[in-house]
Amino acid sequence: MLGQSHAILGATAVGSALMVTGTNIVDHPITFIFGLTIGTLAALLPDIDSPHNTFRKSLGLNTSKAFRDLTRWRKRNFLQLTIDLIQIWIALILDFVDKFMPHRGPTHWGATAGFFTLGAYWFCTTFSLPDPLWIAFGVGYFSHLLGDGVTKQGVKFLAPAHDKFIRLLPKFLCVRTGSFGEKIMLSFLVSLILGWMFWMLIG
Ligand SMILES: [Zn+2]
Repeated sequence: MLGQSHAILGATAVGSALMVTGTNIVDHPITFIFGLTIGTLAALLPDIDSPHNTFRKSLGLNTSKAFRDLTRWRKRNFLQLTIDLIQIWIALILDFVDKFMPHRGPTHWGATAGFFTLGAYWFCTTFSLPDPLWIAFGVGYFSHLLGDGVTKQGVKFLAPAHDKFIRLLPKFLCVRTGSFGEKIMLSFLVSLILGWMFWMLIG
């Protein structure tokens, strides 16, 4: 799925999970908003291994463009040059990550999601932060695996124990990343999650 789809799916899943577990926006607005922010960022986190990830795009980090800018150094002022150098530095680090972490590799494993969620739990307990924050992180991260799990490629949920791509739906129902089908799938998942939330709150 595309970054924006993951953000929408993550925000919906996190917001609904917070409401259902008693952190509603009316009684706990601050915790709710912090949780929603953390959860939405967590939903984008697994794609840090993608060469076209949202972080890189929003920072305008393209290694070859950064180098091109630098070759025109005579026309650039000191501030621009400093920014160019910082960009190249971060872009090179991300390139390094790309090289050693194949897309939909370890950051997309169920075990990694579980491990990070436990880490978030430990962090919140140690620093006496409210529980909804680690719950939001976990729901956000797992929502990413759900979103990629309904694409044709699938996700290696059970790796490293079972190193195979797994789809959560039969192949003909799965969508291609960035396609119109992805928008329909996203609308369907969002409706499903919102329906579940209302059912839980009213029931
Ligand atoms: Zn992904």
